[in-house]
Amino acid sequence: MSEQRVTVGHGLDGYDVVIGPGLLVSSGKLLASASKARRIALITDTRVSELYGPQVSACLASAGFEVHALSFGAGETSKTWAVAGQLLEAMAHDGIERGDLVVALGGGVVGDIAGFVAATYLRGIDFAQIPTTLLAQVDSSIGGKTGVDLDAGKNLAGAFKQPLLVISDTDVLTTLSDVEWRSGLAEVAKSAIISGEEFLGWLEGNSLQLMEREPVTCEEAVSRSAAFKARVVSVDERESGIRECLNYGHTLGHAIEKVAGYGAIPHGLAVAEGVRFAARLAVECSHATREFVDRQDSLLDGLGLPTLVQAFDAGDIARALRADKKVREGKTRWVLSQEPGMWRCESVEESTMMEHIKAWAASKTGE
Ligand code: NAD
Repeated sequence: MSEQRVTVGHGLDGYDVVIGPGLLVSSGKLLASASKARRIALITDTRVSELYGPQVSACLASAGFEVHALSFGAGETSKTWAVAGQLLEAMAHDGIERGDLVVALGGGVVGDIAGFVAATYLRGIDFAQIPTTLLAQVDSSIGGKTGVDLDAGKNLAGAFKQPLLVISDTDVLTTLSDVEWRSGLAEVAKSAIISGEEFLGWLEGNSLQLMEREPVTCEEAVSRSAAFKARVVSVDERESGIRECLNYGHTLGHAIEKVAGYGAIPHGLAVAEGVRFAARLAVECSHATREFVDRQDSLLDGLGLPTLVQAFDAGDIARALRADKKVREGKTRWVLSQEPGMWRCESVEESTMMEHIKAWAASKTGE
């Protein structure tokens, strides 16, 4: 497979996602064609900085940019108001100006926080993404949602900030740990289930190759997922309708992440558990079949995403669900899928939700 381009949005607000192997070395040239900035605030985390920071900085410098590299400790625990504040102060100290550019080099945490910083610095400066995790390439780098976690819940402070360009070099996926790889596969599975039979069938037929990180199949998974997300966010930039489908598996997933403590369970692994839970809830609340539940379970099993084996307190999970952004008039909202490609957002009664949460929590402890 050669370089792919997926366009997100339309007209002046549209931007490209460039996907392919070996793109890091072209990142300077690609960004120079998208931006007239003189300086780049290159935001990354300590791990990615170690792996790819010098290479990307050199490449941006050789394209004529003055590079200001800024980094913070890797992982979800850094996705905070305090870290965003430190980055903003560092940018001001370095003299980053309104015409300059913020570039996120890293996974979803880096993209979310760097995008938030770009949205707020000097009331908003340009932003581009070089996503380096599978999760970020297939999902978080596209669509313009940025933000930080609050003690009260995940992603509770944020802004919409569309990037000028997304550069997804699939070669960098080779250095991901096994758990980060599987975490990204959970978002691919979510996209395939919601997208429909064609993508879901492809994923079922290619799960072995993906587990082995076969390069051409990986590239295809990234471009199929990116194209799916681009289609959705292009018609609903601000999550007022169809975009809610992207939250499939995320209602319980976010509650699990919060209760376990941010960073304790990788995002995708929590989402995979959330998909299993939503699939079961859909049998009761949305006329889904038991066969469809089994099919989603098999897909997740085949992608190395078995059921989480960890004790959770049903009351803690319920409290986390009630604090979720998706609560409306006291009822939690769930994306439920009836069959591949078909979904609805349902407000579920407290009593029904509690019954399912208790059964789920009991299944974890074997009670
Ligand atoms: P992450 O950014 O913390 O990356 C996971 C780990 O992988 C980190 O330790 C990082 O240093 C390391 N890493 C990154 N690239 C690497 C590489 N190429 N090789 C080796 N190690 C590498 O987490 P993530 O899983 O990428 O993203 C999760 C975050 O994304 C969550 O905060 C979630 O809320 C957010 N998210 C946002 C959206 C959105 O639309 N904005 C969508 C989905 C998820």
